[in-house]
Amino acid sequence: MALRPARKPRKPHSAQVIRTERLTPHMQRVVLGGEGLADFAADTCTDHYVKMLFSPEGVSYPEPFDLERIREELPREQWPVTRTYTVRAWDPEHRELTLDFVLHGDEGLAGPWAMRAQPGETVRFTGPGGAYAPDPDADWHLLVGDESALPAIARSLESLPDSATAYAFVEIAGPEEEQKIDSDVEVIWLHRGARPVGEALVEAVRALEFPEGRVHAFVHGEAHFVKELRQLLRVERGMAREDLSISGYWRLGHDEDGWQASKRDWNARIEAEQEGTAPAA
Ligand SMILES: Cc1cc2nc3c(=O)[nH]c(=O)nc-3n(C[C@H](O)[C@H](O)[C@H](O)COP(=O)(O)OP(=O)(O)OC[C@H]3O[C@@H](n4cnc5c(N)ncnc54)[C@H](O)[C@@H]3O)c2cc1C
Repeated sequence: MALRPARKPRKPHSAQVIRTERLTPHMQRVVLGGEGLADFAADTCTDHYVKMLFSPEGVSYPEPFDLERIREELPREQWPVTRTYTVRAWDPEHRELTLDFVLHGDEGLAGPWAMRAQPGETVRFTGPGGAYAPDPDADWHLLVGDESALPAIARSLESLPDSATAYAFVEIAGPEEEQKIDSDVEVIWLHRGARPVGEALVEAVRALEFPEGRVHAFVHGEAHFVKELRQLLRVERGMAREDLSISGYWRLGHDEDGWQASKRDWNARIEAEQEGTAPAA
């Protein structure tokens, strides 16, 4: 099998941690700033995200940091490890980039890093990428996600005009995780308690009486409930593909490297199962 050439990495940004804030027991805000953000721009999508770069344990890189060179010269296991985070806010005037991290325990890189991040630390990341903003021509909006999608949902709600009709379902561990969002749309907070992640979201969207007209939807979070909601929205409700921004942001039991490596196959299999586009594996 021919090996695909590694993609040319985008030039990374370098920034410093300016301050941190514990928003709720399991959500840590980290605000980045510095000269390295001079050419950063994030204004077209409400799901803009950056790919943070973490050094594998015991690996350090020569300065100036050169991602292209690292990938050319070092074995893959020494390349920086990436973790994806939504641009919760970007303030170009003060050059401040705000990211909100779910604190999901001691496992992983980014969550534990955010919990301990200190002002002055340097971080590197590529991006932003992004693909969604609420369509102003839609009759109504549906936003659904767990904590990992809350930054994008909050940003989307803040961008909606007061006249917009929207339903926003966000599943969180419990009432202590609710956040204040600057929007006229009232978030429907679903408290997970001891239930599996996403179960309450699937239940709530299934029970929703859809208003008349074209809906534009944003559905993201743990991969299993996203799969169920895709079946509901695409197949049972017949939503058009282009009206639906839907993907697994993370997968239970897989770190981001494992999830990203299997995501393409996972998505292809779901599409085949749900839409009969190819035989299911
Ligand atoms: C486009 C995009 C935008 C995203 N935006 C955000 C964001 O703004 N904020 C945010 O917190 N996350 C966001 N995520 C999800 C985040 O990238 C993943 O949760 C990532 O796996 C976290 O990395 P980690 O190093 O903390 O854990 P990893 O090393 O990747 O995983 C370690 C273990 O923790 C589990 N785990 C990972 N994430 C969670 C979670 N949220 N809850 C419970 N268990 C988890 C994994 O299944 C694994 O078992 C986004 C993902 C995408 C694709």
